[in-house]
Amino acid sequence: MYHDSKNIMVILSSPSGAGKTTITKKIQQKYNSFKISVSHTTREPRPNEVDGVDYHFISKKKFEELIAQKQFYEYANIFGNYYGTLKKTVDELFLKNDIIFDIDWQGTQQLSKFKNLNLVKIFIIPPNKDELKTRLLKRNQDSPGEVKRRFEAFDNDVKHWNDYDYIVINENLETCYKQIENIILSSKKNISMFSQ
Ligand code: 5GP
Repeated sequence: MYHDSKNIMVILSSPSGAGKTTITKKIQQKYNSFKISVSHTTREPRPNEVDGVDYHFISKKKFEELIAQKQFYEYANIFGNYYGTLKKTVDELFLKNDIIFDIDWQGTQQLSKFKNLNLVKIFIIPPNKDELKTRLLKRNQDSPGEVKRRFEAFDNDVKHWNDYDYIVINENLETCYKQIENIILSSKKNISMFSQ
């Protein structure tokens, strides 16, 4: 994997419903240099999702072909669907940009095996489980069965906090965003200093 040593790769992981997507989009809007890595998935699009923007929505057959061709840096089966990051997507973006990944702990572990990526790994957690349930229900994006599955995955997800460089609690979206912004800006500064 090629990389310009001044760029960073920020991984934002969280249990479903902890506010990660909003934060990811906010960072990209404010900082032009940051691009979001758009994953491939076999999950059905939600009504508000756009193909090529939120995800590349593909069939299971196509996804398995891409796995066989070793085209992913990482992929995982989550809630019965595949999600993965294509090598091509990342290599093209990383030539000129910092990248934000919205991926789970399995993908984080796989990306961590590559050296010299300047990874900054951030785990966002909701203040408590009740709040998580409220948020999952309020965003009204998934069927009741899906909400239940996502809620139940929480205990397993948080077990992996130790794989991350930073843990941020999203009690208040604005404060959480500010904390993540500070982490990213100081990581970027450190990397620029050490790569001169
Ligand atoms: P959702 O279905 O809510 O969009 O995403 C479900 C989970 O899949 C989230 O935790 C999200 O971070 C994760 N995810 C999305 N894209 C990828 C990917 O490319 N790789 C991995 N490993 N996880 C992903």
